[in-house]
Amino acid sequence: MRVTGARFPGRYIQAPELLSRLGSEVCSLGSHALCLLDGTLASRLEPLVYKGAGSSLKVVCRTHGGECSETEIAASVKAGRDEGVDLVIGVGGGKTLDTSKATAHELGVPVVIVPTIAASDAPCSALAVIYNEDGSVAYDRFLSRNPELVLVDTQIVAQAPARFLAAGIGDALATWYEAQSSLRADVPNCWGTHGAIVAHEIARLCRDVIFEHGAAALTDCDSNTVTPALEAVIEANILLSGAGFESGGVAGAHAIHHGLCELEDVHHHLHGEKVAIGVLAMLLILGEDDEFEHVRDFCKSVRLPVRLADVGIVEVTDEKLDRVGRRACKPGDIMKNEPIEVTPGMVADALKRLG
Ligand SMILES: [Zn+2]
Repeated sequence: MRVTGARFPGRYIQAPELLSRLGSEVCSLGSHALCLLDGTLASRLEPLVYKGAGSSLKVVCRTHGGECSETEIAASVKAGRDEGVDLVIGVGGGKTLDTSKATAHELGVPVVIVPTIAASDAPCSALAVIYNEDGSVAYDRFLSRNPELVLVDTQIVAQAPARFLAAGIGDALATWYEAQSSLRADVPNCWGTHGAIVAHEIARLCRDVIFEHGAAALTDCDSNTVTPALEAVIEANILLSGAGFESGGVAGAHAIHHGLCELEDVHHHLHGEKVAIGVLAMLLILGEDDEFEHVRDFCKSVRLPVRLADVGIVEVTDEKLDRVGRRACKPGDIMKNEPIEVTPGMVADALKRLG
């Protein structure tokens, strides 16, 4: 049976200084929360969380260890059980948020996600990427439901380095192209559902918002100022891209991202930066040369990489490109969601053309 559908978080809200209303926003979900705080920001965030919780919400804060690993999740689950919490709140970047989702899932309680950066479209999703202790990816864990609430304090996001926002734009850039590929190939998303009309419209809107407001949002982020442009791009990076990719499907751009991650060279670069290279290479592979020019100009305008050297691959060799191509086209993996058959050689050629 061909089933169409879409996935969303239970509720999504954003505003400057929204963390100050944490207690009243989550009171329908629970009254005693385990709050996982990103280790890099814990000392700054902890007082804001306690203040925002007010008198209606009892909070126990725990500083996240840095990795979303089975060990970290087990320790958080134990902390939650010992305290008898009925809610998990994650405040931080992707790994803290994914740990919070997995912890809540194991405890069988709702989860509230508070992203402190807009660097990827992970916050709204029902997915947690689990890492090994050495920092390599272990596996993707698909959870039974999306976060009950995603609360974005745009003042906090505006205070983070603009590079994170740019990376989020790179991740959001892939959403439209991958949903389009999935539609043309008539393949389902990771949950076995074909994207509903709303999935593709959200992906289109995601693209339009970042194209229109991306460059201005980065300038505003440089000055740590929340403006309508920055608010729009934060929503595109987190909500539109999140619902768009989960519902519309992923394809070649992320496949090439996975390939690039095989190389030590790229390890200091952010997910969305590598995804942007994947989008550009896929447009070349699909022969969409005019769109490639347009997207490359856009990437330059929003500080995203356009050449291999921009993501750390300074010395380009056939051996490296072959490794990237083979991982990108791993049989049964997401490259199959493209409407044409893509070979490792085609990936290597496209990356070479990027220079
Ligand atoms: Zn992504």
